[in-house]
Amino acid sequence: MSRPVRILQLYPRDMNIYGDWGNTLVLKQRLAWHGYDPEVLDYNPGDAFPDDVDLIVGGGGQDSGQIVIVDDLQKLGPRLHDLAEADVPMLLVCGLYQLFGHHFDTVDGRRLPGIGLLDVHTVGGTTRLIGNITTRHPDVGDLVGYENHSGKTYLGAGAQPLATVVQGAGNNGEDNTEGARHRNVLGTYLHGSVLPKNPRLADRLLAQAVDNRYGEFSPGAVDDRYADQARRVAMSRPR
Ligand code: GLN
Repeated sequence: MSRPVRILQLYPRDMNIYGDWGNTLVLKQRLAWHGYDPEVLDYNPGDAFPDDVDLIVGGGGQDSGQIVIVDDLQKLGPRLHDLAEADVPMLLVCGLYQLFGHHFDTVDGRRLPGIGLLDVHTVGGTTRLIGNITTRHPDVGDLVGYENHSGKTYLGAGAQPLATVVQGAGNNGEDNTEGARHRNVLGTYLHGSVLPKNPRLADRLLAQAVDNRYGEFSPGAVDDRYADQARRVAMSRPR
């Protein structure tokens, strides 16, 4: 019996930096390992938005990539809000994380409007926050990755941080928060890509997507020994 699960990759042409495409590959492969049939669809500006989306992923990009997609994203805003309220899981990294907030003020004085799905806003700075980052998530445990951004993101009262920074900058280098969450919508600065390094986070997104569609999720046995070992090493190293 075929059990399809549909992953939508948002703006892969313009928003896909530092290996963020690896997140989609991990979701696809792990779905197959868990016994489901992944379908991956790309959405680029001007495309028709597909029906029956189970999981949405989007990557980072330069300010210039964000400028290319910002108007199109505004058009998708109401649709994405509806999907979020229906508990569809989403993972947005860096540049798209910023645009899922209220707005991003670039360093050269331009305000890029976001879709306000996450109660955060971002201010461009002159210093780049670059390097390996280690964090702790309240349920999933340690999350490790790589960050490279000049935008500093600040959480409003309606957003919960995704994780707490152990080492690195995270949202802004000031308040020890990393990323943001609303329902199953997760924003993060972690590249790396993040999901190969943190398979528990990948399975959390998949469990939600599959449960929404089939009413249950029965994970297969996956050997995550190497990812777990690499994460332990990353946690113990200086930035
Ligand atoms: N342009 C944004 C910044 O530098 C996002 C960068 C990224 O996605 N890596 O803050």
